[in-house]
Amino acid sequence: MPKKENFKHIETKVVHSGEPSPRILGSVSTPIFQSAMFESSGEGSYHEIRYIRLNNTPNHLVLHKKLASLEGAEDALVTGSGMAAITTTLLALLSIGDHVLVQDCLYGGTHDFVTKDLGQFGISYDFINANDPTSWELKLKPNTKAIYVETMTNPLLEVGDLKAVVEFARSHNLVSIIDNTFATSINFRPPEEGFDLSLHSATKYLNGHSDIVAGAVIGRADLVSKIKRRLDHLGGSLDPHACFLLERGIKTLAIRVNYQNESALKIAKYLAMHEGVKKVNYPGLETHLQHRRATELFEGYGGMLSFELDGGKDAAELFMKSVTIPIVAPSLGGVESLITTPATTSHSGMTPQDRQKIGITDGLIRFSVGVEATDDIIEDFEQAFETLGQRIPIKVA
Ligand SMILES: *Cc1c(COP(=O)(O)O)cnc(C)c1O
Repeated sequence: MPKKENFKHIETKVVHSGEPSPRILGSVSTPIFQSAMFESSGEGSYHEIRYIRLNNTPNHLVLHKKLASLEGAEDALVTGSGMAAITTTLLALLSIGDHVLVQDCLYGGTHDFVTKDLGQFGISYDFINANDPTSWELKLKPNTKAIYVETMTNPLLEVGDLKAVVEFARSHNLVSIIDNTFATSINFRPPEEGFDLSLHSATKYLNGHSDIVAGAVIGRADLVSKIKRRLDHLGGSLDPHACFLLERGIKTLAIRVNYQNESALKIAKYLAMHEGVKKVNYPGLETHLQHRRATELFEGYGGMLSFELDGGKDAAELFMKSVTIPIVAPSLGGVESLITTPATTSHSGMTPQDRQKIGITDGLIRFSVGVEATDDIIEDFEQAFETLGQRIPIKVA
């Protein structure tokens, strides 16, 4: 008899939701179904044929149920990358002649897709300031079909007026879409707040171990089903082995993210008090412009922060060379702390003037907090500041 799922807390859901019931030959973890196709059993339509590209192996189905359960949504879908989730969603919901409103500060890949690729499909866009709902109406057109935002912006961790996004979408009959990668399902569950679709780069926190690339679409069943059909055709499917790893990663999502929330807040507070630091961007700090909004919306402030050193670019470069625990690498959300300078990585495509305008200075450092001991990270930062103090004349506490 399959057991009925009735898990109250997300810490339990990450472990048990969506798992095969009864267990497959008693297997406690879902076995990897490394089979491209499955024996026919009277499938009615093309999309029901059991085949990896059609996103319906047992490994896919477990993830679909688990992810839907985590965010209290009707349905979910995994994809071959975060970008596959984003592009397939936009290409499934928008068609020639349509218009979409997008937040003005977007993940680099999404920004490029919207500004450089959507036009080729006859789809137009306008940028909106997510902090200024009164300005959105002016950008609205008769052919506007969707509004697209991110839970927190990269790398300044700004939090838009997400409640207003949901209301605006409802009153104008738009599909509301949010990239929830940075907050994760632990800190924010967009479908519960009224968003139609929540997208993730599962490469980051959901998997959490920096060893696969994957994506997810979570939300309204009718939309997820439409996106699945488009995914079946475009082919951005997740391999069963990667599905297995993602399922394994999600089981520890709650303990990882709860810890990362705590650790990031301590590190942000440490940095904010440090004399060598000009500015810290973290929604958990009272000095953050949208701190109250973040507190109202989120259960935790997340594991991402950025900061600016006195001494600009030179200081940032030296600091990055001096730290010994964080790895200098792009991406985020894994168990290892990662450190980068957005001006030379994620935002290097922009002109220095454009970067300056949105607050991404050459000395800005982005930090993805891992699961190491917080005290070890702080001690490591401290010795890096000392090295800096000896080489560059900045005030060090
Ligand atoms: C990394 C990232 C993506 C893209 O995900 P991939 O898995 O690299 O394709 C999209 N949105 C955000 C916010 C990201 O951080």
